[in-house]
Amino acid sequence: MLKVLLFDLDETLYHPDSGMLQAGDRTITQYLCDEFGFDWDAAQELRVRFTHQYGTTAAGVEAQFGTSQADFYAATVEQVDPTRYLQPARELDAMLAAIPAQLHVFTNATRRYADGVLRALGIAGRFGHVFGIEFAGWRPKPALQVYQRAIAVLDLPAEQIGIIEDNPANLVPARDLGMITFLLRQDHETAHYCLADILDLHDILCQEKLCPQRGE
Ligand SMILES: [Mg+2]
Repeated sequence: MLKVLLFDLDETLYHPDSGMLQAGDRTITQYLCDEFGFDWDAAQELRVRFTHQYGTTAAGVEAQFGTSQADFYAATVEQVDPTRYLQPARELDAMLAAIPAQLHVFTNATRRYADGVLRALGIAGRFGHVFGIEFAGWRPKPALQVYQRAIAVLDLPAEQIGIIEDNPANLVPARDLGMITFLLRQDHETAHYCLADILDLHDILCQEKLCPQRGE
């Protein structure tokens, strides 16, 4: 039985069509142009390359240019107003409210950014912890230590923790450690369950008897 669900934030708790993530990416590309003199296309290429190489662009900028990740995030994605891209998600809020497990956010974004996104979606009150990038010493998923630290804080066997992601790479350590893995909008060997839509999560938890039924 799952006692806890860990939700990724970006493009998991909101849909890619919102444009929220792309707005953040534009601030990062612009930052690389302004701070380091790249032209737009070179900055775009670097942003993507750093993400693949270091897990986040911020980690790459810190490693290569010495800028602290806190300063990088404050100057980039934290400048985006989430209410321009995201609206209160009432169906999602109701679905989360119906899940008989503790819900937490587990994201490579900062706490400040995550809190803004959750408030814009009107679901901030549904989550206990928001495990942001600061939580594991600015080390991003899919580093194994990040998952191990979350398990230690939750003080539960991994088998009682579910994780919901849009990025299959972030499910690899979770599954290796024994968590139950849910992947959005695609099929992948790392996923125990695939969800066409985040709103399907409650039904799958019930159908597969992964959470205690009401009254149990
Ligand atoms: Mg994501």
